[in-house]
Amino acid sequence: MRALILGGTGEGREVARLLAERGWHVTSSLAGRVSAPKLPVGEVRIGGFGGPAGLTSWLLNQGVEVVIDATHPFAERISQSAAEAARATGIPLIALHRPAWVKQKGDKWIEVSSMQEAAEQATRFAHVLLTIGRQQLAAFANDPHNLYVIRTVEPPSAPLPPRHRVITSRGPFALEDEKALMIGNQIDVLVTKNSGGTLTEAKLQAANQLGIPVIMVQRPPLPKVALQASTPKEVLTLIERI
Ligand code: NAP
Repeated sequence: MRALILGGTGEGREVARLLAERGWHVTSSLAGRVSAPKLPVGEVRIGGFGGPAGLTSWLLNQGVEVVIDATHPFAERISQSAAEAARATGIPLIALHRPAWVKQKGDKWIEVSSMQEAAEQATRFAHVLLTIGRQQLAAFANDPHNLYVIRTVEPPSAPLPPRHRVITSRGPFALEDEKALMIGNQIDVLVTKNSGGTLTEAKLQAANQLGIPVIMVQRPPLPKVALQASTPKEVLTLIERI
């Protein structure tokens, strides 16, 4: 019994653990963006497959029986590749995506559908906290006026706005620390993707308690997949039915 987990998330590592415990031969695949990633149990391969065609060949060569797309909800291209490769091979695909965050009482969300739109909204604020990862920071680079506090896991390489401070650190983050970060940097808006999950949601509670608005980038549309799970345990239930 052979499974490929497209990972890079805590949920991917949890599925690897659960399947390995049940005797599956598990390979987890990571993109290779982070220099010292948290590794799942089982076999790990790192780097792209070469688009849908490359993934299709890889699945057939390795004799994979099920693919679990446990990638981050903003990782659009790899999810598209997984859907296309599953169609081409007939190998069952389970899409595991954690539920999106939902606006709570007192939240001041400015909901936007792209990072470009988020960047336009951010120019209205003097001290902006960016927690969007490294890849789309260039969208904010053309604002010469406001200060951007940029928190990423690894130092960014993209063009940055002229006035910035970079903080490298990896979650989970505690509520009191998030509040101290926002107060200490006089933050008046937070920018985040609607990633969902518990590891980084303290920043939303902190913003809520401090009355700070949040520019919330909505999730991109992902390919329609018949087998959908929102937790690692649901993946197990679906696998038993295949
Ligand atoms: P993406 O835009 O969908 O992927 C770009 C390309 O990177 C894909 O076409 C694929 O290359 C390769 N790739 C992506 N994920 C891969 C994986 N798990 N295994 C092998 N190759 C992969 O993805 P992304 O937004 O750059 O995210 C990359 C990874 O970081 C994902 O594994 C994701 O779970 C994780 N991550 C992303 C975010 C985020 O905000 N985007 C946040 C946390 C973690 P080929 O076409 O050559 O196969």
